Amino acid sequence: MILKSKGKLAEGLYAVGVAEIPAYLTVGKTPALFDAGMTFLGPRYLAEIRGILNDAGRLIFNFLTHSHYDHCGAVPYLKRHIPGLKVGASRLAVDIFHRQSAVELIRSLGKDYEERYKETIDGEDVSFDGLNVDIPLDDGVEVDLGGGLGFKAIATPGHTKDSLTYYIPRFKAVIAGESVGVFDKNFTIHPEFTASYRDYLSSLHKLALLEIDLILMSHFFVLTGDDAKGYMAKSIKRTEEFRKRIEDYLNEDDGDRSVVVKRIFREDYEDTGAILQDARPYLINLEAKVRAVAEGR
Ligand SMILES: [Zn+2]
Repeated sequence: MILKSKGKLAEGLYAVGVAEIPAYLTVGKTPALFDAGMTFLGPRYLAEIRGILNDAGRLIFNFLTHSHYDHCGAVPYLKRHIPGLKVGASRLAVDIFHRQSAVELIRSLGKDYEERYKETIDGEDVSFDGLNVDIPLDDGVEVDLGGGLGFKAIATPGHTKDSLTYYIPRFKAVIAGESVGVFDKNFTIHPEFTASYRDYLSSLHKLALLEIDLILMSHFFVLTGDDAKGYMAKSIKRTEEFRKRIEDYLNEDDGDRSVVVKRIFREDYEDTGAILQDARPYLINLEAKVRAVAEGR
């Protein structure tokens, strides 16, 4: 089944914020939040966390899948309001969050939405001013959250170098960010190998070995049952097909990457109108995917 990523998903498991950019909250002995999307959603996440936990100060951990603006933008806001909150992310993300260019990009992409959703912010300071990773996570590390809940962090590079997938055995659930393909409005899967095609594919093969009942997608949806079980195989197929298409277009267009980007943008974005992402971040990612294939990464 395909559900909206919103509200209570299971006993001790919630999606908070908006379905477009959910953060996932597990409530065991030690509550933990996974990701915290764009800057403007900070107040929204905080209000819902407060509603579920009664006291937002009970939230101890915020684990991040990767360093993109729509996965970490609201973390500084949450840290300002929950002083004890500890952030966990890949060891590779530690330096990225201190790099001025990365901070600027996260801030700039978040600003577009802050303008659009002024009423959600309601005059609060939601600014992204960089962030400190308190808990650097290595591949394979297991974290016990008490009360029968915990997770394993699995390095799944390819979308970004620092991508981590969290596997929660209690729910047989994965929180993978864009390490798995994303749906458009027609439930067509779009692969996101913006850093490396080869790494992305081998990460998917790694995830395909897990026993999965639940996929907590980074945007809009939660997959259960057969939709969850079959998703990695479908993602792998779509990833290989998309690489082939980029290669074919590069051959047809004399290796001109910008022509290929324009062509795919027209076909997938403009003609279908089905992509659930703004044009600017979509184009940044598409250019990166074409580059990854062209450079054989
Ligand atoms: Zn991303």
